[in-house]
Amino acid sequence: VAQNPGEPEFHQAVKEVLDSLKLVIDANEEKYRKAGILERFVEPERIVSFKVPWVDDKGNVQVNKGYRVQFNSAIGPYKGGLRLHPSVNQSILKFLGFEQTLKNSLTGLPMGGGKGGSNFDPKGKSDREVMAFCQSFMTELYRHIGKDTDVPAGDIGVGAREVGYLFGQYKRITGLYEGVLTGKGLTFGGSLARTQATGYGLIYILNEMLSHNGKELAGKTVLVSGSGNVAIYATEKAQQYGAKVVAMSDSNGYVYDPDGIKLDVVKEIKEGRRGRIKEYVDAVPTAKYTEGKGIWTIPCDIALPCATQNELNLDDAKALIANGCFAVAEGANMPSTREATDLFVEKKILFMPGKAANAGGVATSGLEQSQNSLRLSWTFEEVDAKLHDIMVNIFAKADDAAKRYGVEGNYVAGANIAGFEKVVDAMLAQGIV
Ligand code: NDP
Repeated sequence: VAQNPGEPEFHQAVKEVLDSLKLVIDANEEKYRKAGILERFVEPERIVSFKVPWVDDKGNVQVNKGYRVQFNSAIGPYKGGLRLHPSVNQSILKFLGFEQTLKNSLTGLPMGGGKGGSNFDPKGKSDREVMAFCQSFMTELYRHIGKDTDVPAGDIGVGAREVGYLFGQYKRITGLYEGVLTGKGLTFGGSLARTQATGYGLIYILNEMLSHNGKELAGKTVLVSGSGNVAIYATEKAQQYGAKVVAMSDSNGYVYDPDGIKLDVVKEIKEGRRGRIKEYVDAVPTAKYTEGKGIWTIPCDIALPCATQNELNLDDAKALIANGCFAVAEGANMPSTREATDLFVEKKILFMPGKAANAGGVATSGLEQSQNSLRLSWTFEEVDAKLHDIMVNIFAKADDAAKRYGVEGNYVAGANIAGFEKVVDAMLAQGIV
């Protein structure tokens, strides 16, 4: 804490992981201590921080802060998204880069961990302003990334439009047409099923966890927070499995539709015109919109937090459990606070943490990199089948690690242990670097 002052999200993520790794650390204490493994594991290899000046539509110069955290490259080139949101700061990007390292390890693909972004707020900006920002951001970032060194992708506030502008500027500056970013448009190297991957993957691993525990998704009532990329495709796949999603949200409030969310309405609002979730009731007057937090007070069987970090606190967890919720899978990164996570684990709620549950996005980004290197495009079905296998494997790894260390059913510990083991093996093999 003294070495990283003022970084509460980073402390939260590291503490949670180290607490659940205690069993592994105790069993290997001598080996890890000598090699300084933990000290090296929690320190990013490099952080680049830079200014991003751009000109707004009124002709005024705006300046944002840009970052890239290159956290760990033991098992592959850095890989992780770029986030554009006013809340972005170094603490948040370090927590995300740290989590990403473990997540990427769980996918079984050769990807190290990284994360980046800016406190730029794309909301309310014109296309030209977003392009101006992205071009300025890439004008510094390009020198730190490359297809074999660091491959950024989308995250909150960075979708196909932003990835397109970033890729265009990278190509213009370097003259290289290479898979330096993932989440690209389909006409310039993007992968089919990448848009759906995080949400679909979340439901694949949820389904695996449920069937492993004698339950199924069909007929269950589900809450999905957020209404962005992850939330929309988690809802789509959950509905395909026969579940009934009754609520979605955004940072202003949530809609409750007891008849089941009509996803075409949400897609039209969110993907079609970047609108607000409250507009849902204009199309579906029988649904109810409530301003502010509160989505977790709706009775459900399964909760899927898919918006942002720390959106589900201890009171929310208590309300969910009291209302009969028996499974939670995290589409977002660290959406549950530490206290909420501990309660879910203690009460034996089937709980799949974000680093395992939402790994489908980065896994499919890894598949996009493979296709770019091979100069091939796989079909939607081919990518989706690989994604499904990867998610089933992640469940098996988390389940197996939990069993090996005597905490069966604790997928928080299982995912942390399984992700950690591979990275640490590689770090030990590569010496003091
Ligand atoms: P989007 O920007 O597409 O959507 C984010 C959603 O969350 C929006 O509905 C947004 O509402 C809401 N939201 C954002 N910030 C807040 C906040 N502070 N309070 C309440 N609601 C908020 O992002 P994604 O769907 O891509 O990402 C969602 C989460 O999933 C993030 O934690 C991300 O890191 C994680 N993730 C994403 C992956 C991907 O492939 N996209 C991969 C793995 C993890 P509003 O429109 O009002 O801002």
